[in-house]
Amino acid sequence: MKAELLNISGTIGLLCMAGCAVGQAQQSWTVKPEWVRAHEDFLASDAMAGRGSATRDEQISAEYVASEFVAYGLKPAPGMAGMIQSAEVVAAELDGKASLSVGGVTLAEGGDLRLLIASGAGASGRMLRLPAAGAREATVPRRAVVLLTEVPAHESGLMVAYQLRRSGAGLVLFEEDDALRTYVAKNPNPRVPLRLNLPANDATALPATIASVSRSAMERLLAQNPDAVATLTVHVLPTRLRKTYNAIGYLPGSDPMGGTILLSAHLDHLGVVSTPINGDAIFNGANDDAAGTTAVLELAHALAAGPKLKRGILFVCYGSEEVGGLGSQFFGNHPPVPLTQIVTNLEFEMIGAQDPKMPKGVLLLTGWDRSNLGPTLRDHGAMLGPDPYPEQHFFERSDNYSLALDGVVAHTAAGWGTPPTYHQPDDDLAHLDFDFMTTAIQSFIEPIRWLAESDFRPQWNPGGQPKR
Ligand SMILES: [Zn+2]
Repeated sequence: MKAELLNISGTIGLLCMAGCAVGQAQQSWTVKPEWVRAHEDFLASDAMAGRGSATRDEQISAEYVASEFVAYGLKPAPGMAGMIQSAEVVAAELDGKASLSVGGVTLAEGGDLRLLIASGAGASGRMLRLPAAGAREATVPRRAVVLLTEVPAHESGLMVAYQLRRSGAGLVLFEEDDALRTYVAKNPNPRVPLRLNLPANDATALPATIASVSRSAMERLLAQNPDAVATLTVHVLPTRLRKTYNAIGYLPGSDPMGGTILLSAHLDHLGVVSTPINGDAIFNGANDDAAGTTAVLELAHALAAGPKLKRGILFVCYGSEEVGGLGSQFFGNHPPVPLTQIVTNLEFEMIGAQDPKMPKGVLLLTGWDRSNLGPTLRDHGAMLGPDPYPEQHFFERSDNYSLALDGVVAHTAAGWGTPPTYHQPDDDLAHLDFDFMTTAIQSFIEPIRWLAESDFRPQWNPGGQPKR
């Protein structure tokens, strides 16, 4: 119903600035609500068992997306024979308790040391004391041991540590706080996330282990000589390898020098848990991120059906986002076109629910102030506005970040930052706002068509580009 109304061109025109030619043009394509529904019905069905990262269910989801891409007329990306890119991932398992020694202090897991997120490897080095306030922007030596100090009351040490994970640190330690106690109540055992199977000398091969220490242990650590060497010892079972899958479709452009646009989402979600929550063990991920995958599919459908565009467009649905953006990290390391040719990346995340803080019908764009992409797309009719939750650091929490670290102007468009169903089994078909989704996807077709026909190359604003 809403899509039909959009087709008479008025809505887009209202959102457009004066002089915006695209907004005054007729909509050339109408996203049908039943197409949106059909993708969701498949991807978020119980049969897909929550599309666990690097599982057969993720692989089937990737094959579904690839076969839709073929049906819409997309081609394999340059240098690829098909539409699936796979990567080996390591599934390490802990075997026994970890320990940490710093100078004269030894902390044992289960005592003053709590392993939260383990990389599956130990760490050793001089302990670098880093105030939490500047930690996100800090450059830390590769494999460094970092002790977060002075975590402000409104911050969560875990969140700051998590942001530091991709900076190349080997171990991040912080003092347990209230946010951590809530986290531990839900996650009593250390997690060993999957990681890409990369050569040990690759800077991104081993994301940091994150551990908390008790207050008294923190005092003892701070009392050590600043040059003291910290050594974390962990015990792991022999490595098992699995695979993760990206689905990649390509719409060639007419101008080889014009650059390529990257539209993306993630295929995977949290799979199935052994202990049901409120009687439901399947994390369907209808919103996170079958909704974004649906947006990529329907944008491919619309744009492939139209006239040939100047710039090429890559449509990518990544695997293993939920375990640390592994699919996008691998894609960034093995892009089918050089990253310097990618003019921008727009990721779609959780567009299946409207954020109550946003104007009706409008998606939030993470990192709005970091570049001129959001305002420009909005001027051309995209239903986008600034992310009202900058303190949540959503910009750093999705696949766009892997590409942004590589220099690509990359943002995520999302519906509701963290809706009540976020990472719960009831993120299911019954909790999707299909009208909102359909209208949101529709609103991007003409702005992206404009971007693909233009010479406009989005730029970072001063200080907006994140550093690795
Ligand atoms: Zn997501």
